[in-house]
Amino acid sequence: MTEELPRLARPDSVEELSELVAAAHRDLRTIGVYGGGTALADHPPGKTPGLLLDMGGLNQVTEHSPGDLILVAGAGATVAELTRVAETGDQELLSDFPADRTDSGSTLGGAIATRAVGPRRIGRLPLREVVLGVTVVLADGTIAKAGGKVVKNVAGYDLAKLMTGSWGTLGIIASAAIRLYPKPQTQGFVEIPGAEAALSSIGSQVAPAAVEIDRSPGVAATTVVMVEGLPESVESRTRQIIDANPGAMPGVEPSWWARRAQAPVTIRASVSPALVPELVGQVARLEDAIGYPIQLRGSAMGVFDLGIGDLDSDPTIATRVVLEHLRSWGQKQLSATVLCAPASVWGEVDAWGEIPGFGLMTTIKDRFDPDGLLSPGRGIGGL
Ligand SMILES: Cc1cc2nc3c(=O)[nH]c(=O)nc-3n(C[C@H](O)[C@H](O)[C@H](O)COP(=O)(O)OP(=O)(O)OC[C@H]3O[C@@H](n4cnc5c(N)ncnc54)[C@H](O)[C@@H]3O)c2cc1C
Repeated sequence: MTEELPRLARPDSVEELSELVAAAHRDLRTIGVYGGGTALADHPPGKTPGLLLDMGGLNQVTEHSPGDLILVAGAGATVAELTRVAETGDQELLSDFPADRTDSGSTLGGAIATRAVGPRRIGRLPLREVVLGVTVVLADGTIAKAGGKVVKNVAGYDLAKLMTGSWGTLGIIASAAIRLYPKPQTQGFVEIPGAEAALSSIGSQVAPAAVEIDRSPGVAATTVVMVEGLPESVESRTRQIIDANPGAMPGVEPSWWARRAQAPVTIRASVSPALVPELVGQVARLEDAIGYPIQLRGSAMGVFDLGIGDLDSDPTIATRVVLEHLRSWGQKQLSATVLCAPASVWGEVDAWGEIPGFGLMTTIKDRFDPDGLLSPGRGIGGL
């Protein structure tokens, strides 16, 4: 293994994965990870890896226990396949995954590494609570296991939580055990003009599963509330939402549901739910002022992706203007970071702003990957 370490490898077992990582560690080669490849344009590109691991060989579902609401699978298993398996037990993956990315082959490992999230974040546990256990190959090739049914742990760390959102910078996820959820019988959608109803909808007694806002360039925003459950309950709650909101209409799942704004540059803006209507207003004013179309899409919980389009000129300038404008408007109450941008933009703008807990993140990175070999530059803050 040491002499002929390839540039690209597709391990079929955790042992093979471990040997490859150990060999790369001995050679001080950097390692990149390829799941479904749907998030490779997100975050900075990082350094070109000396070894690229294609996780597609680790795609087996090793356990599905509908009675225990648990599914265990290799990190390379696609979310689409896991959804299909869960459906055989009338269940679904508890976390909500982006619909279009699921169709394009995003994997369990990629979803965990990037902390994927979809519209139903209001009524659902966050992904880090859904991952019950993981098997991880650490930077030196050691196989570490954490959670539920496994034996070995990395002292002092909750490995499953640590891997969620780690972007391949702390270890390679080989497999994971995730919690399932009974599949709701029906869903109902209500469209409400504007963004003002978003906050009251989140807290209302109808207990929505999702409240999403979409605003296309030059067009007024729309709020869509989704409820799910038994048919009679969905029908009565849908009626309650319509009665409580002037202009509200029953709808179907919009074409943009669970699909992020697509544009050359995407900025993620987070505010408290109370500030959502103001943020939506700010984006409309900003679009008028700078002349770049901005697609806003996200959750009334306050997390939005802003797709900035038509960047014939310089994407760096547009990115900088939008970031600076949002930060000066929102001050400490808003976080604005670049999620996706051409490679040239990352080093030219303050892509991350102030990152809460960055010192701790750096300490953990040094502990897990002291040689800086795992996906260098791909993590939060360019870790
Ligand atoms: C148009 C568009 C829309 C999107 N919409 C959404 C959305 O609505 N919500 C959302 O959350 N995301 C969204 N994404 C991002 C992306 O689709 C998700 O994050 C997806 O779950 C990534 O899975 P993947 O298998 O394709 O990961 P990949 O693209 O293969 O990998 C992404 C990164 O994760 C790491 N990684 C992958 N596998 C492993 C592993 N086994 N162990 C350790 N690290 C690993 C690597 O560092 C890699 O660089 C969108 C992306 C695009 C382009």
